[in-house]
Amino acid sequence: MSEEKSLNFIEEFIEDDLKTGKHQSIQTRFPPEPNGYLHIGHASSIVLNFGLKEKYNGKCNLRFDDTNPVTEDTEFVESIKNDIKWLGYEWDAELYTSDYFETLYGYAVKLIEKGLAYVDDSTAEEMAAMKGTPTEPGKNNEYRYRSIEENLKLFAEMREGKYKDGEKALRAKIDMAHTNMLMRDPIIYRIKHVDHHRTGSEWCIYPMYDFAHGQSDSIENITHSLCTLEFLPHRPFYDWCIEKLEIFPSRQIEFARRNMTYTVMSKRRLKQLVEEKHVNGWDDPRMPTLSGLRRRGYTANSIKCFSERTGIAKRDNIVDIGLLDFCLRDDLNKIAQRRMAVLDPIKVVILNYEEGKTEKLIAQNNPEKEEDGSRELNFSREIFIERADFMEEPPKKFFRLGPGLKTRLKHAYILECVDFKKDESGRVTELHCNYFKDSKSGEDVSGIKVKGVIHWVNCADAIDAEVRLYDRLFKVENPMAEDGDFKDYINEDSLEIISNAKIEPALAEAKDGEHFQFLRKGYFIKDKESTPEKIVFNRAVGLRDSWAKRNMK
Ligand code: ATP
Ligand code: MG
Repeated sequence: MSEEKSLNFIEEFIEDDLKTGKHQSIQTRFPPEPNGYLHIGHASSIVLNFGLKEKYNGKCNLRFDDTNPVTEDTEFVESIKNDIKWLGYEWDAELYTSDYFETLYGYAVKLIEKGLAYVDDSTAEEMAAMKGTPTEPGKNNEYRYRSIEENLKLFAEMREGKYKDGEKALRAKIDMAHTNMLMRDPIIYRIKHVDHHRTGSEWCIYPMYDFAHGQSDSIENITHSLCTLEFLPHRPFYDWCIEKLEIFPSRQIEFARRNMTYTVMSKRRLKQLVEEKHVNGWDDPRMPTLSGLRRRGYTANSIKCFSERTGIAKRDNIVDIGLLDFCLRDDLNKIAQRRMAVLDPIKVVILNYEEGKTEKLIAQNNPEKEEDGSRELNFSREIFIERADFMEEPPKKFFRLGPGLKTRLKHAYILECVDFKKDESGRVTELHCNYFKDSKSGEDVSGIKVKGVIHWVNCADAIDAEVRLYDRLFKVENPMAEDGDFKDYINEDSLEIISNAKIEPALAEAKDGEHFQFLRKGYFIKDKESTPEKIVFNRAVGLRDSWAKRNMK
C-alpha cells in the first residue's frame, strides 16, 4: 500500500470548494436523532465527519435532530455524547434543532409571505389521494389558492393551539406535477399536541424533518452536510429551501450506509431486539451498538480502524464482520495484558513437587510492550489446566498431555503425565504428573524438547470466575435479505456462559475497561455485572484470525 491515500469523492468536493474559494474552511456536523443508541453504522458517519474536521482543520458540530417530540429522550442524548467521546472526538458545539424552532417558524412565515407556502385543511388520506403517483401528476386542491393573509393568520392560529392534531398542515407550494414526488408540495409543519423533551409545552406545531435539517445546516454554516443515500431524492427540496429562503448555501452530499454481516443496523430493529428480549438491553455485548461493542471489549481504535479501512462508498454494501475483528485483534495484541485463565478446569497433582511448597515465577505482562513489566505467579504442587489439554488416547501430533506425554507449562516447567483418575461415568477428574526441576522457563538446562506450551493456574490462589463467550447474533450473513422476519434468523446459541472458570489472582484487580489476553483463549474484558463475590469476564474475540487468512497474503 502506498503512503499517499487517494481522495474519496467527498474529499474531492471539499478540496474543490476550498480551491475555488467557495469556502475558506469547512464545517461538518454529526446529526443523530436522539431516539436510540448509536451503532457501528453511526460510527462510520462520526469517523467521517470528525475525520474531515481533523484533516482540513475545520469544525464539526454535534447536532441533536430532535424535531420529533414523540420518540426522543434525554437518556439517548447522554448515551450518544458518551459514545462519541469514547471514540475520541470532541465536537465544536453541542446544538439542538429544537433551539431553532423560533427561527424555523420565521422561515415558514417567510415562505408564506413569498407565496411559497400554504395551510392545507385536507386529511392525510385526502392529501395522499391528490398526490398522484410516480407516473401520474398530482392535483392542486382548493387550499393551494388561499391568500397570503389567510395563510399567515391560519399558521399563527396553528401555533396558538387553535386546531387539533392533523386538522391542518403547512405545505410548501412548489409543483404538484413535479417528477420528484417529494417536491409535490411537501408538508413542512404539522400539529402535534405533545410535550418535547427540551421545549416542553411551548410548541404544538413541529417542523418536518426536511424543513428542519437543511435549515439547521444553514443556520450553523455547515459547508458540507454528509448524509446517507436515502436522502438523495430529498436534495432538490434541500436546495429549494436554500434558494427561496436565501440562507447559507450548505451542500448536501450522500454516501452509502455502512452495513455489516451477521447483524442488523437500524435503531428500529435493534429496538425490537431489546424490547422483545432477544438480547439483554441496548448494551448487550452481542449488539452492534457502540455501548454493546464497548462492553464486549472492542476498543475505540478498532472501530475507527474498521471505519477507515472500509472507507466511503457511493453504493450500499455489506462489510465482513471479520474485518472488525481483525482490527480489534491488531489493536489488542499491542495493548492487552496477558493473563492465564482456565475455562474448563481439570486438576493436576505434580507428584514430585514438594508438598506445602510455593515458589514465585515471573511472567511478562505483554511481550509486545516491554514497559508493561511483569508480575509474579505462584506455583505449587496442585494446578488447574484445560480439560482439552489432556487426551486419554492422544493422536499423533497432540503436543499436550496424555499418558506418557510431555508439555511445557507457560512461564514454568516441563510436565510429564504419568497417570490419571476417572469417576464412575468415565470422566477424567485428576491428572498425575511429574515436573522437571531443571526445565524452568528462561533457565531451562534440562535438554528436553517439547513442542506444546499450555496455560495453567495455581489451585491454592486461583479465583472462580464466570466467563461469557459470544457468537454471532444472527445465523445468516444478511438477515434482512432472507425470507420472512429478520428475527427468524437469530442465533439461539450466541451466548455461552461458563460459570466455573479458574483465573489467576492478578485478574481480581482488573479495572473497568482494561483489556486482557487470556493466553490461548482470546481477548477479554471485565463485565459491568461483576460483583466482589463473582467476577465476570466477556470474551471480545478469539485469537484465531480467519479473516486475515482469507484476505491477506
Ligand atoms: P437508523 O436507521 O439506524 O435509525 P438513522 O439514519 O435514522 O439510522 P440518525 O440518528 O438519524 O439515524 O443518524 C445520524 C447520522 O448517522 C445520520 O447522518 C445518518 O445518515 C448516519 N447513519 C445512520 N446509520 C448509518 C449507517 N448505517 N452508516 C452510515 N451512516 C449512518
Ligand atoms: Mg434518522
